[in-house]
Amino acid sequence: MKTSIIGYPRIGKLRELKFASEKYFRNEIEQAELFDVAKKLRLENLAEQKNSGLDFIPSNDFSFYDGMLDTAFLLNAVPKRYKKLGLSLLDEYFAAARGYQGEKGDVKALAMKKWFNTNYHYMVPEIDDDTVLKLSSNKPFELFVEALENGIKTTPVIIGPYTFLKIARYTGKKSKENFFGGITDSYIQIIGKLVNLGAEWIQLDEPCLVKDMSKADIEFFNSLYTKILENKNGIKIRLQTYFGDVRDCYNEICALDFDGIGLDLIEGKKTLELIDKNGFPSDKVLFAGVVNGKNIWKNNYAKTIALLKNLQEKSINTVINTSCSLLHVPYTVKNEVKLSDTYKKYFSYASEKLVELSEIKKIAETDNFITLSEYTANVALFAQARSGCNTDVKEKINALSEKDFTRSPEFAEREKIQKKEFGLPLLPTTTIGSFPQTSDVRQTRSSYKKGNISEVEYEKFMKEKISECIALQESIGLDVLVHGEFERNDMVEYFGECLDGYIFTEKAWVQSYGTRCVKPPIVWGDISRAKPMTVKWSTYAQSLTDKPVKGMLTGPVTILNWSFPREDISLKESAYQIALAIREEVLDLEANGIKIIQIDEAALREKLPLRRCDWNDEYLDWAIRAFRLVHSGVKAETQIHTHMCYSEFGDIIEDIDNMDADVITFEASRSDLTILDVLKAKNFRTEVGPGVYDIHSPRIPTVDEIKSAINKMLSKVAQSKLWINPDCGLKTRGNDETVKSLKNLVEATLEIRKENNL
Ligand code: GLN
Ligand code: ZN
Repeated sequence: MKTSIIGYPRIGKLRELKFASEKYFRNEIEQAELFDVAKKLRLENLAEQKNSGLDFIPSNDFSFYDGMLDTAFLLNAVPKRYKKLGLSLLDEYFAAARGYQGEKGDVKALAMKKWFNTNYHYMVPEIDDDTVLKLSSNKPFELFVEALENGIKTTPVIIGPYTFLKIARYTGKKSKENFFGGITDSYIQIIGKLVNLGAEWIQLDEPCLVKDMSKADIEFFNSLYTKILENKNGIKIRLQTYFGDVRDCYNEICALDFDGIGLDLIEGKKTLELIDKNGFPSDKVLFAGVVNGKNIWKNNYAKTIALLKNLQEKSINTVINTSCSLLHVPYTVKNEVKLSDTYKKYFSYASEKLVELSEIKKIAETDNFITLSEYTANVALFAQARSGCNTDVKEKINALSEKDFTRSPEFAEREKIQKKEFGLPLLPTTTIGSFPQTSDVRQTRSSYKKGNISEVEYEKFMKEKISECIALQESIGLDVLVHGEFERNDMVEYFGECLDGYIFTEKAWVQSYGTRCVKPPIVWGDISRAKPMTVKWSTYAQSLTDKPVKGMLTGPVTILNWSFPREDISLKESAYQIALAIREEVLDLEANGIKIIQIDEAALREKLPLRRCDWNDEYLDWAIRAFRLVHSGVKAETQIHTHMCYSEFGDIIEDIDNMDADVITFEASRSDLTILDVLKAKNFRTEVGPGVYDIHSPRIPTVDEIKSAINKMLSKVAQSKLWINPDCGLKTRGNDETVKSLKNLVEATLEIRKENNL
């Protein structure tokens, strides 16, 4: 048996590529130095992979920014506005990635989107009617040669033509079908060049095959590859899929002349069933994705071996593979110096996954493997009871019944009670929670964390900030206030740190986009609330004013989606555990006199399954229930708000109503308020605050602009249901622009109230 991976992280173990690139952006180093750093990282990766015994070693998985952007440059799909700048190739590439503002011009970056169901973001290639797709970069060839010179014959990895054309943006009249000739010729040329360089295999990534495919999609895919595969020139082609199963086109891909097919057996729920039902062609190699490329836990060898034996019994020629690129996990557990071995012995980052692949191979090739030490150690690890078990939490979850997910009285009655309770004016004004995180705030938090200032000093500082923030909001004239969230570094990490069951790493960075990395906390055990998390700050803020101050929490689905989840229990169970902990905080806030509580679900939409038919079964049902569990215990007069960041939720609008919050605020200004039509069409019941201005820009919106946004909203949303607020938290903004913008927001609202006699 042989082993393979689909790709490797490239940002550097200590984020060397990030820091070098950022220096280059600031003109502190020359291009040659950046290239040196990159080459060193690539060679390190290759050496590590070779030493681990990996059989199929990828190349061209390296990128200075993003693999999709590299493919756009490879195929000449680069908008003219970047070419016109007359920059060096690298600078043109970075201009497309990040935008360019300088003596040669002023252009925005390409759009960026989430890469399937990951937290990685790719640059969306832009194709217009003048685009001519043709081979126009040497990167895959140069990187193949570079590895060859170091004694390694790699498998070059390139995004496949179907996925490329499918997720590109077309700005003119043409669509993907018009680029058939250009793209197939380019791939045929790529193959030809790699053949000449001595490549044996090439890997074409087609993750779009795990999404819903129409008949036309399947036909298009078929015709692309029929043409390309007629021109293989003796090279072997691996069609690599990941992030799910290929249920819509399994038979079609088996019928095509591929030499290898990569299938995901981790996230591909139906992959095994497809193989069982339809068989697997005997003339092809199955690259079986059995090692999870997305999570940080060790592989369960007993399960994996059983799976591989099952494939062997079917006489399938199998290569042991990861389920997706290792880009989505951090580099190595070795860099976690502070974390105790109790935890670390369960972890496997990219470098440890290489070791797992070679151990699995050894085990799979050994007849009497049950005595192998690699196997017995792994079995013992999984047999061992893990710390972090909380029977109390487990019992609470088992005891949940329908009433725990149902708030009473029902929405309409609560709405009446709350109107009376708060006596707010029509079109109440509010903000989303955070106020500018100025450098004094960051510094004080970090000094406190390092132990340089005492808890008393820290609290004193925070309370001063809160009281300034309340005074500011009162002077601006907002109706519903917030405490400002100065104590929070991050809306998930803050809660993670206050919850039992979470652990934190030092170096577990994962690329999110370009040079930006995130370090998700890890759900280790059963989650419970160790202590009140926000009560102190919220009650202090409320004590300073007669206006209502919103308590501010992050919801269970967002907390879970931005963490590395457990694999030994379901996501649903983890979400319910987190929900119970947040629920305690909600009830605590209520008991302490907080009358409005906002539970943010910024990332609710993020983990929607890639196939629509799986939305409810696999996600929405429990995600919405987890949210309901958080707030179902409050009194009728307590008002529950929620907030979401992406405007693209027209397609789940009924589910959002079903969260049964009293008020929802969301980002809408950038989507030209199109969401309002959906709200109207679906008779949206929850009160809404579609953001009246974009906080992602330092621009100060004028009173007239805000008024026109409000008037548009009033034409689609009943005035009794409309709230007025910015579209997201203000933490990334400066003080000055924030004050001016909020003053304009209140001014605009007052004028509209007056003009409409509200
Ligand atoms: N309450 C959070 C804030 O205001 C919400 C952040 C978010 O939506 N991402 O910062
Ligand atoms: Zn937001």
